[in-house]
Amino acid sequence: DFHPLSVLAQPIFDDVRAWNPNEPEFHQAVHEVLHSIGPVLERRPDYVDAGVLERLVEPERQVIFRVPWVDDSGKLRVNRGYRVQYSSVLGPYKGGLRFHPSVNISIIKFLGFEQIFKNALTGQGIGGGKGGSNFDPHGRSDAEVMRFCQSFMNELYRHLGEHTDVPAGDIGVGGREIGYLFGQYRKITNRHESGMFTGKGIGWGGAQVRTEATGYGAVFFAQEMLAVHGESLEGKRVGVSGSGNVAIYAIQKAAQLGATAVTASDSSGYVVDDAGIDVDLLRQIKEVERGRIVEYAKRRPSARFVEGGSVWEVPVDIAVPSATQNEVSGADAEALIANGVRAVSEGANMPCVPAAVAAFQQSDVLFAPGKAANAGGVATSALEMSQNAARQRWGFDDSERRLRDIMSDIHHAAFDAAERYGAPGDYVAGANIAGFERVANAMLAQGV
Ligand code: GLU
Repeated sequence: DFHPLSVLAQPIFDDVRAWNPNEPEFHQAVHEVLHSIGPVLERRPDYVDAGVLERLVEPERQVIFRVPWVDDSGKLRVNRGYRVQYSSVLGPYKGGLRFHPSVNISIIKFLGFEQIFKNALTGQGIGGGKGGSNFDPHGRSDAEVMRFCQSFMNELYRHLGEHTDVPAGDIGVGGREIGYLFGQYRKITNRHESGMFTGKGIGWGGAQVRTEATGYGAVFFAQEMLAVHGESLEGKRVGVSGSGNVAIYAIQKAAQLGATAVTASDSSGYVVDDAGIDVDLLRQIKEVERGRIVEYAKRRPSARFVEGGSVWEVPVDIAVPSATQNEVSGADAEALIANGVRAVSEGANMPCVPAAVAAFQQSDVLFAPGKAANAGGVATSALEMSQNAARQRWGFDDSERRLRDIMSDIHHAAFDAAERYGAPGDYVAGANIAGFERVANAMLAQGV
């Protein structure tokens, strides 16, 4: 079900599938990059000779480990932990940890692979990696989450360090988990090594705007794409999926820029609120109470809850899918297009299936892939590392201005690469090519 690639790229993809059986998400992420890079390989025999892609599809190192912990009833539990250290050519491995029952090696490798190019696009000197566990924090007590995080770090600590590998959050890993993970690293190593983890609390080495950065950045990227066509977010209806850290701050920034974000969702269904999603209420329910999205509609007269179903059936001008991978199907894309969507900015990693991306691009919908659109999160993590290294704390407005400038630079890099390779307006090709060039050039310089 993967369409053929160019002569130079296809054999690499064939090997990836042969070496990594039963890893559909990883294959999907690699196929997309190889498709974009085909024309680059034609023009750059030096990249081909150096085997840059053959090397990049194989992680530098993969760590898989047992995570035993004791639940509140005294029962012994075992989960599986992962850290895939993909590429350190541009800087220490950098990327989040995901705690979710769906986590497996395919998911971690797809995320880690994307992270290489995303991080390169930020221009911040960070390599690519990703990790996590099939542990489900949902419904677990704080004490259980703490014991799990401590056990996870008891193994992972030896692979981390501010110059080696710097994790952060992702799905299921927020401020609470980062605190427990950082605390255990500090106790094991006897080092208060601020720069070995990002997304820390503001009072102990965390950076302003890191929490908001992914969602804000995805909205800034939509703004950049619209600006090319003399359009803006003013007065637009924005559809957001998810109700986690990315969704919440995408909703907030859309509202601050004069748009109205009208949806949010979780695995049980979605809410529509034509008055605009109340961010404080959403945060109270999802972050403080750790409850379900139906609660939002119960407490907000202007909102209704739709059980099951797809949030993408709601007519919107701008879509910011911010839940998880492959959440936007081909049929969802057709529904959005039929309802007149103008732009899609991926807040999550790979939320649109390939058929959805193709449908958007064929319909002249402005489409931003997550690698570019959600790079604000990891870019701001790099700013946190800078502040930690310099023992400085930058203010909120200053940090947000830096984030905005970085998103503008990423937009420019992707836009420019697409033009250079004869695919104007194709941000998928542009992001992949621009990120790849930076990584490939560093690989050539540093040798095999
Ligand atoms: N998990 C986020 C991402 O996908 C952030 C990673 C980081 O800040 O290191 O980019």
